[in-house]
Amino acid sequence: MSSTCRRRAHRFRTKTARKLMEKYGSDSIDDAIACGVDELRRRVRAKGFCNRFASPPYDPSVVAALFGVPVRKEESLRYEGQIARLDPDPDLFRIERTTIQVRNEGRSPQRQRYTIAHEVGHLLLWEIVGQSRKAHLGRTGRESEIERLCDMIAVELLAPAKEVRALLEKINFLASANKAHCIVKIARIFDVSLFLASLRVKEIREPRLGCMLANLMNETVEWSFGVEENPLWDELRNLEESASSGRSSYQAFNRKRGIVIQRFSWTRVSPKAVLAAQISM
Ligand SMILES: [Zn+2]
Repeated sequence: MSSTCRRRAHRFRTKTARKLMEKYGSDSIDDAIACGVDELRRRVRAKGFCNRFASPPYDPSVVAALFGVPVRKEESLRYEGQIARLDPDPDLFRIERTTIQVRNEGRSPQRQRYTIAHEVGHLLLWEIVGQSRKAHLGRTGRESEIERLCDMIAVELLAPAKEVRALLEKINFLASANKAHCIVKIARIFDVSLFLASLRVKEIREPRLGCMLANLMNETVEWSFGVEENPLWDELRNLEESASSGRSSYQAFNRKRGIVIQRFSWTRVSPKAVLAAQISM
């Protein structure tokens, strides 16, 4: 077990986290979540729901169906997602008498898949803890350890660590000349957002990875982590100027600052959106 796992395991203090680790006989929360999600996959296959679960992208609503919980898309919803109960009486709480509601308005399919997977995380945790009567209903967006656990379950459900690691080996991520392109590939195969794919690669393969999704049209940053935005912008502008027309990916080295930048255009976001990946030396 790595020291990272040990530190993480130590940070999780709720009864739910303890029960999860006890159930799978692990003192690492990451391992326990991987085991829990593996077991869900086996149950999905045993039920014969394997069509949308034989290979990625994995459909989290199939796992919700395993719990007998339907998924409904709502045009406007205060939260990204929530679990609504069909029984108004709090003493009658049963998992199978709930429904997952997901915000539809202005949300990408990848964002919705993540929200459903997060709510499935709540279903799994309720089942493990067995607190069916007292369970309060989770809403995406609230900061707590349970929310963090559900986020981890969601990521493992959509892009299992084992499979992402194997794929990164196969495409030889560490030696690849275009790391941004590799991240886009991960996002496409698992049908997750570029943000989730980037974080997953950082977590699994390259802790020095920093990424920025930039919109060159209106000079805005969609999101970034592990990078200093301003110097990266300067590099991107230089790349744009020096690039020959039609090239969608290229790289730059800045030895002075010890970074490698790899840029990749991704038209699904915007014709001028680029993913820049930076490895700090
Ligand atoms: Zn939640």
